[in-house]
Amino acid sequence: MIILGVESTAHTFGVGIVSHTKKVLANVKDSYTSSLHGMIPEEIVQHHLRVADGVLARALEQASVTWAGVDFIAYSAGPGIDPVLWTGHRIVTGWAKKYGKKLVGVNHCCAHLSVGMMVNSLRDPCYLYVSGVNTQVIVQGKKKYVVMGETLDIGLGNMLDKFGRIVGLGFPAGPQIEQLALKGKYVELPYVVKGMDVSFSGILTRIEQLYKSGKATVDDLCFSVQETCFAMVAEVVERAMAHTGKKELLLIGGVAANKRFAVMLERMCQDRGARFTVVPMDLAGDQGAMIAWEGYLRRKTYGDIEVNPQWRADEV
Ligand code: AMP
Ligand code: MG
Repeated sequence: MIILGVESTAHTFGVGIVSHTKKVLANVKDSYTSSLHGMIPEEIVQHHLRVADGVLARALEQASVTWAGVDFIAYSAGPGIDPVLWTGHRIVTGWAKKYGKKLVGVNHCCAHLSVGMMVNSLRDPCYLYVSGVNTQVIVQGKKKYVVMGETLDIGLGNMLDKFGRIVGLGFPAGPQIEQLALKGKYVELPYVVKGMDVSFSGILTRIEQLYKSGKATVDDLCFSVQETCFAMVAEVVERAMAHTGKKELLLIGGVAANKRFAVMLERMCQDRGARFTVVPMDLAGDQGAMIAWEGYLRRKTYGDIEVNPQWRADEV
């Protein structure tokens, strides 16, 4: 079976082609960026509409398949930015009609988790899902995923991007923050863990004050925001692993690209005698291959479900 997966929840428009034997045949994406500001939904919509056909053509070429060889189309139905989700839905509906394919709407968060399992031979991990919008510690329950801890306000990636906007780093800011942090030293920031949850908005306010009053350099803020936020998340994950007795940790989502974060989590796992795994970079951030694989797994449960901007992983 060959599945074509389409990602369109936020800044990335992606088309991935995956076989039921877990082979990623193609994974092409084009992401909206901005040197001036963050994500503006209307600009993202225009971006996705502009690149969609080109991304599709490159994916089909990379996979050496034609539409005749595609069994069905999986698409990201949520969670995500409302108009961006609808744009994705409009695009896949057009392709489905034109080429006579069935649609399977999937949950974007579950797709991140599933693709992590697809490429790693893990038994029953604790998932740490850190992307733009999401920051969640998740385990598999009896029937559904269970969110054990999460952000009470914004996701870690969004927090880094907002910080980047305040100090003029452009969007997305995560990779730049990681580089600048190498030259920084520690300044104190609020450390906000509430039970099993974390909160980032107060940290952002403090950063803005420190930056505007000239009391901290951008490099120092980059270093400190990483140390503080990563430590908060690591604390919650460690508690989730201790509570559930999980011996594997799987890191997924765009922030998984950060080397310092991986080092901290790996050290925590070593101390607990647990195994730490990161999803390979090309499958960590948003892309279509994960949507295709999740579509394969849920093909009997879901069809064209339109979109659901607030759809949580524990509701699937
Ligand atoms: P996703 O929504 O999963 O595609 O993840 C996108 C988020 O990952 C954005 O908020 C980026 O700023 C963030 N990100 C990407 N690379 C890095 C990095 N090296 N360090 C920290 N955050 C990153
Ligand atoms: Mg994502």
